[in-house]
Amino acid sequence: MRAIQIHQTGGPEQLQLVDLPVPTPGPGQVRIKVAAAGVNFIDIYHRSGLYPQPLPFTLGLEVAGTVDALGEGVSNWAVGDRVGCVTAIGGYAEYALAFADKLVRIPENVDLETAAAVLLQGMTAHYLALSTFPLKAGDACLIHAAAGGVGLLLIQIAKRLGARVIGTVSTEEKAALARAAGADEVVIYTRESFVERARAFTNGRGVDVVYDSVGASTVEGSLDSLRPRGMFVTFGNASGPVPPISPLTLSSKGSLFMTRPTLFHYIATPEELRWRAEDLFTWIGAGELQVRIDRRYPLAEAAAAQIALASRATSGKLLLIP
Ligand code: NDP
Repeated sequence: MRAIQIHQTGGPEQLQLVDLPVPTPGPGQVRIKVAAAGVNFIDIYHRSGLYPQPLPFTLGLEVAGTVDALGEGVSNWAVGDRVGCVTAIGGYAEYALAFADKLVRIPENVDLETAAAVLLQGMTAHYLALSTFPLKAGDACLIHAAAGGVGLLLIQIAKRLGARVIGTVSTEEKAALARAAGADEVVIYTRESFVERARAFTNGRGVDVVYDSVGASTVEGSLDSLRPRGMFVTFGNASGPVPPISPLTLSSKGSLFMTRPTLFHYIATPEELRWRAEDLFTWIGAGELQVRIDRRYPLAEAAAAQIALASRATSGKLLLIP
C-alpha cells in the first residue's frame, strides 16, 4: 500500500511516498481502509520534531473510512462499519490501524470526508467551549484565527451556546468567512489592535475567555484583552510556542486563569470521546454545524498540504485522499 513516512525529522521535503505492506491489526486493534485523512498541525510538529516520534514514522492521526479487518479480541466492530478516529496509527496511508476503543461510529447521513474533516478540529472546538471554559449565554469570547479549521467550528459552537464572539483573522476574505460562521465582530489583527477592539466589544471590561491557537504573536494581547479573573486558554502554536509566563503576570493583569489543554486529555474515556463525536455528527446531520473543506490533495501531495496549512493560506480543513 502507499503511505507517507518520514525517516528523519525536518522540513516538508522529508515526507516520502513509500510502498509498505498492508498492516496487520494487533490485539484490540482494527484495520481501517482510509477514505480520507485529515491534515493537522500536529502532523507538522511530528514531521519537524517539535513532538518527537520513533523513526521511521508514518504520519497521520485523523482518518475516516471503513473497518477492513479485526485484531484478536475485537468484538464490538464488524468489517464494513463506517468509523473515524483521531488517534490512528499511520493515517496518511491507504490502510491505517487504530485501537477499537478509540473509534467512533459515523452515521449514514454524514459522509466520510466530512467526518475526516471535523473530528479532530471539531472535538477540539467542542471541549474548548463545553469543558475548558464552559460558555454560558452572554459570555464574551475572543477567538484567534477565527477562519481557521478550529476557528470556524468554535465560532459556531460558541454561538449555539449563546456566547458573544469576537474573532481575529488576517484578511478580508477570512473576515467574511468568520462572519458567515456567526462571529459578532471580526478584527483584522494584522492591521488593528485586537486588544482595543475586545475592550470596546465589552464596554471596557474585557472578554471572559480568550481561545488562543496562534501562540507567540498573540499571547501578550490575549492577556490584555481579558476581564479580571478571565481565562486565557492557550491551545496552539501556529505562530510559534508561547514563552514562559510568570505567575505574577497573571496576578498583575487581573488574577487571570491560564490553561494549556490538549484534545487527548479531553477524549481519554470512551464516554467522553463518544459524547463529543456524537454531538458533532448530530449537529451536522441537522444542518446546524457547517464543515468547510478548503482543499483535497492526493496522498502523494502531503507535503503541499502541510506547506499550505503552515503558510496561513487556508480556511477550514485540508484532506488527503488516498
Ligand atoms: P488553522 O486552520 O487555524 O491554521 C492556522 C491559522 O493560524 C492560520 O490560518 C492563521 O490564520 C493563523 N496564524 C497566525 N499567525 C500564523 C503564523 N505565523 N503562521 C501560520 N499561521 C498563523 O489550523 P488548525 O485549526 O488546524 O489549528 C490551529 C492551532 O490549534 C494549531 O496551532 C494547532 O496545533 C492547534 N490545535 C490544538 C489542539 C489542542 O487540543 N491543543 C487540537 C487541534 C489544534 P490568520 O491568517 O487568520 O491569522
